[in-house]
Amino acid sequence: MDLLFATGNPKKSEELKSLLSLNQYNVLDLNDLNVKTEIEESGITLHENAIIKASFLFEHTGKTSLAEDSGLEVDVLDGEPGVFSARYAGIPKNDNKNTEKLLQNLKNIDNRAAQFRTVIALVSQNGVFTFEGIIRGKIIDKPKGDHGFGYDPVFVPDGYEQTFAELSSEIKNKISHRANAVKQLISFLTSNKHLL
Ligand code: IMP
Repeated sequence: MDLLFATGNPKKSEELKSLLSLNQYNVLDLNDLNVKTEIEESGITLHENAIIKASFLFEHTGKTSLAEDSGLEVDVLDGEPGVFSARYAGIPKNDNKNTEKLLQNLKNIDNRAAQFRTVIALVSQNGVFTFEGIIRGKIIDKPKGDHGFGYDPVFVPDGYEQTFAELSSEIKNKISHRANAVKQLISFLTSNKHLL
């Protein structure tokens, strides 16, 4: 069965395609569908943005659609940068500047606890469903490692000594916030085929 995915980001859709193909779902992203529109992320929560993007695609096609939104939430900053993670240091989006701003805001602060969070929205003719994945960890003082993207070089997941940018993508993709949200989605899809 086809599932549409409201992203033009090849990294995200590769991850979802490989996880869902094991369960016989065929994921088609905006590039596969030749949809050129950039969907505006105008929500103020990850849930809102995920629902906005999935609803757009469902309205456009009439077919079951997925979307996701993710962010870094730092305990001592009351969950910032959160939904604004990608543009924390302003527009145009810049991962290095975002990380510098984060480290500056955490200067001389001992509590470095943080989490990445992903929300996946599924919109079908039977309604809107959301799935959430979290990975807890801490923010270190200086960036380390070259893999990944975003805040990966300063995030060390709980139970590990290395940052997401030092760990292999195999490990990150097994334990990440996104992987955890996809697991929830797959378990829902498996037991609720009648809702798609
Ligand atoms: P998006 O939902 O993929 O657009 O993620 C929003 C922003 O959150 C990204 O631009 C990154 O700054 C941050 N982010 C989300 N997931 C990750 C991750 O797995 N590693 C590092 N940063 C992430």
